[in-house]
Amino acid sequence: MSRAARALIDCDALQHNLEQVRIAAPGSRVLAVIKANGYGHGIVPVARALAGADAFGVACVEEAAELREAGIDAPLVLLEGVFDAGELAYAAGHDLQIVVHSAEQLVLLEAASPARPLTVWLKVDSGMHRLGFAPEHVAGAWARLQACPAVARGVRLMTHLARADRRDTAAIHPQLDVFAEAVSELEGERSIANSGAILACPASHQQWVRPGIMLYGASPFVDGDPFADNLRPAMTLTTRLIAVNRFRRGDAVGYGGAWTCPEDMPVGVAAIGYGDGYPRHAATGTPVLVNGRRVPLIGRVSMDMICLDLRGQPEAKAGDPVVLWGDGLPVDEIARHAGTIPYELLCRVTPRVHFAEQGPR
Ligand SMILES: *Cc1c(COP(=O)(O)O)cnc(C)c1O
Repeated sequence: MSRAARALIDCDALQHNLEQVRIAAPGSRVLAVIKANGYGHGIVPVARALAGADAFGVACVEEAAELREAGIDAPLVLLEGVFDAGELAYAAGHDLQIVVHSAEQLVLLEAASPARPLTVWLKVDSGMHRLGFAPEHVAGAWARLQACPAVARGVRLMTHLARADRRDTAAIHPQLDVFAEAVSELEGERSIANSGAILACPASHQQWVRPGIMLYGASPFVDGDPFADNLRPAMTLTTRLIAVNRFRRGDAVGYGGAWTCPEDMPVGVAAIGYGDGYPRHAATGTPVLVNGRRVPLIGRVSMDMICLDLRGQPEAKAGDPVVLWGDGLPVDEIARHAGTIPYELLCRVTPRVHFAEQGPR
């Protein structure tokens, strides 16, 4: 016997979603973003499933090391760059490309003499105001990189968008303009678009696109229909009912007695909770699939269990299959019920959940 909570990772769906990136941005190369353990799906299996990408993006040296140690020799980009000489030496020794977003990182490179020069992506702050060189400092940073022996020919130019989570792209254009102006005199391949911009804003595509969330089959858009972009969920989070009980009208269910039975009714208990990464903020009414059909969650999410209103499925019994998100139930919808975004839900599935890969078929 083992705990029933499982995350089924559909390698076919990952490949299908990569294909959707190619269809949306046919002229661009794909830097597939697999940071944060492949958005919670498992960084190594995701990299293997997405072997057709042109490069992978990770957040830090540890994530790159996990891939290199697993034998993945694809081009890897450290999206936040390196933070000391040791990381720089690791990057040079393991053929990692690095983002340079700060004066400190420029100085580190100028002080280094690696055996082989590194491919560098110069990050421009075009308006997100998080990382990157201010537009007026970009040309100077670019010239220093060009002159630096530790840097390979062909410095690349990138920026990140703050407002690409809506289909209406009006909010993106000011950043596109700032970026275009800052790099207008500079040579180098360019990269701007995350998933939202890949789907909604062809003007942002340039030489490299950087999809993350859409590869995993969730929508980058906070508004609209999660099915709209022909993406397929890469993770299905499942478990089983471990009990079905009949309660009386007026009986309160779960911690705090937060939900009260409006009539005599069956209540199901499913083996999943916030200890598995199911969001504690999922409100009463959040949909859950039991035997492939929707029922509402009731009361508070516990660490190991959730309770379900089974009035719509009085024949359901212990052992029946439960889907929390994925196939047939978009994670976007659960995120809305929990007051968050699909990115967070996918990243936060805990190691207690058994992961299993399916496909390609
Ligand atoms: C995470 C990340 C992405 C991917 O963003 P999505 O919205 O998941 O597509 C792209 N670029 C950078 C720099 C990132 O950090």
